[in-house]
Amino acid sequence: MKKHNFYAGPSILSEYTIKNTAEAILNFAGTGLSLMEVSHRGKEFVAVSDEARALVKELLDVPETHDVVFLGGGASLQFCMVPYNFLKKKASYMDTGEWASKAIKEAKLFGEVVVVASSKDKNYTFIPKNYDVPADSDYFHITTNNTIYGTQIHRIPEVGVPLAADMSSDIFSCPVDVSKFDVIYAGAQKNLAPAGVTIAIVRKDALNQVGRPIPTMLNYQTHVDKESMFNTPPVVPIFAALQTLKWYKEQGGIAAMQKKNIEKAAVLYDEIDRNRLFKGTVAPEDRSLMNVCFVMNDDYKDLEDEFNKFASAAGMVGIKGHRSVGGFRASIYNAMSLESVKALVSTMQEFERNH
Ligand SMILES: *Cc1c(COP(=O)(O)O)cnc(C)c1O
Repeated sequence: MKKHNFYAGPSILSEYTIKNTAEAILNFAGTGLSLMEVSHRGKEFVAVSDEARALVKELLDVPETHDVVFLGGGASLQFCMVPYNFLKKKASYMDTGEWASKAIKEAKLFGEVVVVASSKDKNYTFIPKNYDVPADSDYFHITTNNTIYGTQIHRIPEVGVPLAADMSSDIFSCPVDVSKFDVIYAGAQKNLAPAGVTIAIVRKDALNQVGRPIPTMLNYQTHVDKESMFNTPPVVPIFAALQTLKWYKEQGGIAAMQKKNIEKAAVLYDEIDRNRLFKGTVAPEDRSLMNVCFVMNDDYKDLEDEFNKFASAAGMVGIKGHRSVGGFRASIYNAMSLESVKALVSTMQEFERNH
């Protein structure tokens, strides 16, 4: 039976990515060696790394003022690297979920942190809209897509200070004006590659402005200077990332991905709104195009386990909701096909007919 992969992360990758990476693990670029056993400084891998960073720039239209680096440590390490490198005195943050609050916790180690808005008292079911960001903030940090709660910022705020963003779960899902950001970061395992590599896009002239000394590995400048080759990079995830980026380009680029994402999300949210057994969990205008959270309607709460089993028997994998929301979460990242989303919708319809 075909499996439909709705995992939140690590998550679905394009077949193109998986196939090409599997081949390179057996024989990398005709070297007769595995991708896992070659020097990262050999010309074959350096070409992979260079092409991958160049493609990130091309696909996201990254201006000359910015550079792209590949790092380790996941998005979670960025929670401290961002303030380490950019927080001089004061930074502002928006609290839209667990990842945002983890970022806030780390920033507090480095200076004054103003949480300008939070949706915590409503279990993060919406994106705050009216708030003031102090003009003397070094940056304003946002989490563009809240993977756990299923909310997404659909309009990047204009606040008069540079932005910093965790885009782990929606990078490459829609075009973004990179020039507004001092830093954008994303762990790879949601829309790009297997876990192990993290992308950061940094504004070069915003680096080296803090007074504090920064450990070499935690300084973005190190990785900019060494073109992400200061130490041994995660070669397999970077190779896989390149495949995904090529696939995005082949599909028509990021605008084409966005069009497809809007269509997929609409099909699923329409069914959630129509089907009497289910309901959405977040403010409709803030619904995520990547992580679709829903629960059983009040009258059908006791059917939750049964739907989980029914859906998994139909080949739906990974739709159990995060423990802090409950119910269901279908993650429909770039590599998810419309056919798979339609298969989930059919499963929901069939379940409704049975009840
Ligand atoms: C998954 C996720 C993270 C954590 O990423 P790691 O690479 O595991 O550190 C952080 N932020 C967001 C928005 C995420 O979705």
